[in-house]
Amino acid sequence: MDMKAPRRPLTPYAEKLSAALAEVRAVYEELARRPVVRQCTRQTLCCQFKLNGLTPYLTRGEALVAARGVRAAGRKALPERADGACPLLHPQTGRCMIYADRPFGCRTHFCPAAGGPYARGEVVDLIRRLEQVDASLGGNGGRMLPGAVAAALEEMK
Ligand code: SF4
Repeated sequence: MDMKAPRRPLTPYAEKLSAALAEVRAVYEELARRPVVRQCTRQTLCCQFKLNGLTPYLTRGEALVAARGVRAAGRKALPERADGACPLLHPQTGRCMIYADRPFGCRTHFCPAAGGPYARGEVVDLIRRLEQVDASLGGNGGRMLPGAVAAALEEMK
């Protein structure tokens, strides 16, 4: 006989959140299926925010997916970095700690060695989908990666 306690039904917000995160991941999968050749070889050049003068902006759904990646990597908060690089760049290995959950910008704004950034027209439909998720979660548009992920981690406490 199965003695497991019955699962409590999800709250409406938990259901909405689950659907939203699934949609963000579906966008990432759709991007990977696009017939645009890009070859990220994890040189991590795009992760050097201060050096490049560029920091990715994340919608709320992306930040929540990234925060789940941080937790899955065994961390509860973002590590401090004095060099202005992405806080998700592992200080010892020099690798992205959340590569499978990295945000859309990290997938589309590749360094020249990887083929350069996607043209907006190649991904605008996917951007719209992320914006819809953002709106459904009460987000307010893109936020810079460190603040966006830190806020999402705080929310998960
Ligand atoms: S999330 Fe990962 S891929 Fe994106 S900038 Fe940070 S370390 Fe680089």
